[in-house]
Amino acid sequence: MTFLFVSDLHLDPSEPGIAAQFIEFLAGEARSARALYVLGDLFEAWLGDDDPEPAHAMVAAALESLSSSGVAVFLMQGNRDVMLGERFAGHAGATLLPDPVITEIHGERVLITHGDALCTDDASYQRLRSLLRDPDIHGRLARLPIDSRRALASEARAGSRDHVAHTAYEVMDVNADAVASVLRASGASVLLHGHTHRPAIHELRVDGRACRRIVLGDWHAHGSVLRWDAKGPRLEVLPRG
Ligand code: MN
Repeated sequence: MTFLFVSDLHLDPSEPGIAAQFIEFLAGEARSARALYVLGDLFEAWLGDDDPEPAHAMVAAALESLSSSGVAVFLMQGNRDVMLGERFAGHAGATLLPDPVITEIHGERVLITHGDALCTDDASYQRLRSLLRDPDIHGRLARLPIDSRRALASEARAGSRDHVAHTAYEVMDVNADAVASVLRASGASVLLHGHTHRPAIHELRVDGRACRRIVLGDWHAHGSVLRWDAKGPRLEVLPRG
């Protein structure tokens, strides 16, 4: 029984090759999995579930087809697609997960999160994060016309590029105390997240307890998947043709 995890595909109509690879993955390897988890930033920008963008509808249809074939599909919001909601999840035949959430995979207690909440050294990013998760602001954004939301999203992406260019690499990674704290509080032995685009399996100890932090990779230059079967979790690259 294999569980598949992906995140940070950043699908965007301007880069159809990434979506094409993902749709091929959904119609191929994913069919024989027990479940597929998408841990946030499936989309580069998400204006709302009412966005009529046909490229997004194609992704929903491909997820729905996988779900109809009997594979459980789970979606989590990332920081780029924080407005992704129940309507899209319904079209995709998927269950929308809260962030964070605990699940059991092959007998291990696993804490699943997008990962941005753990980047506590990046104070200005955390301020922006709480703004975008404020239900009042969220509601006001959702009521704006789609073109206004598109303009705001484009400004936000420019702001994000600027922030990444001017912030130290270490500051944008997860904070070690934040990691230890969530592993301690949840009692999980594995923390699984995306967001940082730094795929790796890190071994660590929390109060003497052996734990692992698994970081999923992004899909910018190639695909990236965590395959977890009875032998354990393996991070793998999916070459793009
Ligand atoms: Mn992210």
